[in-house]
Amino acid sequence: MGITDLIWNAISLPKQRFILWLAVHSKLLTKERLIKMNIPVDEVVCCLCDKKDLEINHHLFVTCSWFCEVRNEMMQWTGIKLPAVGIKQVLEVVKNRHWRKFVKEIVAALISGMVYYAWRARNWRLFKKINISPSDAVARIKYEVVARIDIFKLAQKFIRSRSFHPRLCV
Ligand SMILES: [Zn+2]
Repeated sequence: MGITDLIWNAISLPKQRFILWLAVHSKLLTKERLIKMNIPVDEVVCCLCDKKDLEINHHLFVTCSWFCEVRNEMMQWTGIKLPAVGIKQVLEVVKNRHWRKFVKEIVAALISGMVYYAWRARNWRLFKKINISPSDAVARIKYEVVARIDIFKLAQKFIRSRSFHPRLCV
């Protein structure tokens, strides 16, 4: 199972998979990227914390206090250590763990939720002046991942019962 499989895993919501893919490939339109594209930017620092760090991928998804709080709560909830390194490296760590494929997919779904809500919190604060707190984001991620696991298990059960009773599906 490679990083690409983890990004496009079966548990994550499709929109979250896409944002994770953009984050891994540094394609999100962060302030740093806008500057590189010669697009004028009013405020170059991160709007989610008080660190006054330039809004770059590494800050948003590694060192930002907002993201660190979400990561810490996720680690407490799952008992799984998520290292404070770039998103691609975190996925590498998950990829190399001796976990079952399903467990790796669940952890990847949590990571995609974390990245998605960090990006959404950033956008809502910038463009709507609405704050999403880390605890709000954590509650959403937990709810969504648990719901997706239930759907996934139900689908698996259905597939198994269909192969067991082929005549029922004619
Ligand atoms: Zn920040």
